[in-house]
Amino acid sequence: MDLIDIGINLTHESYRDDIGEVLARAAAAGVGQMIVTGATVPASEQALALAHAHPGRLWCTAGVHPHHASEVHDSTIGTLRQLLAQPAVVATGECGLDYYRNYSPYADQRRAFDQQLQLALDCGKPAFLHQRDAHRDFLAALVAHPGVHGVAHCFTGGQDELEAYLALGLHIGITGWICDERRGAHLHALVARIPRGRLLLETDGPYLLPRDLEPKPANRRNEPMHLAHICRVVARLRGETPQDCAAHTSAAARALFRIAPAATGG
Ligand SMILES: [Zn+2]
Repeated sequence: MDLIDIGINLTHESYRDDIGEVLARAAAAGVGQMIVTGATVPASEQALALAHAHPGRLWCTAGVHPHHASEVHDSTIGTLRQLLAQPAVVATGECGLDYYRNYSPYADQRRAFDQQLQLALDCGKPAFLHQRDAHRDFLAALVAHPGVHGVAHCFTGGQDELEAYLALGLHIGITGWICDERRGAHLHALVARIPRGRLLLETDGPYLLPRDLEPKPANRRNEPMHLAHICRVVARLRGETPQDCAAHTSAAARALFRIAPAATGG
């Protein structure tokens, strides 16, 4: 299989001691390329350093997650703009709105999101979008920035949200949430409604270890090799072979993020 994990938090401390093994296991499972999520300025800088250490295998995003929106100042946007000028930085974000946890006030979240959507337009790169319990304001911000393209990452919403995002031209990122029989079952019918070319796969590791994975790692850490499991589940729900599902989701990721296929033998 040829899989791209479009959302992996490889700068998380849980990967600090064995990242080489994590990347080797991913490659052995067919996950040869990944986009490392940047959720703060320092984490985006670390993500870029990882991408530079593994050219052709790792890329990254640069942005500020809504949890950290209160930390966004004009100088933050300037730093993100410089990061986004780097070829290895393929998207603006993780950015968006999260009214579930509300670690930053609503007004700060909306301001930081607007600024990063404008940044995405300015740099001509897609946005890596996070939304939780904030659908209406999220949609309004996107409508106010026509021309923004990107991915609604870790989509867990309902049919109305899915259709609204598809109508806006967004790609849809599906994680191992779909493997959770308690809270992901509604996604089983929805995932078949996502057109080929608009569906992307991600682990969001170290979070969201697929609940139906057997055996489960003792430390409960999710890692990119488990994208192969997510791909098999998604393929079954869509009536596709895993190989076909991997091929069209990877092609969609390469088109959106302008990533070249891995050089053979590299
Ligand atoms: Zn997120």
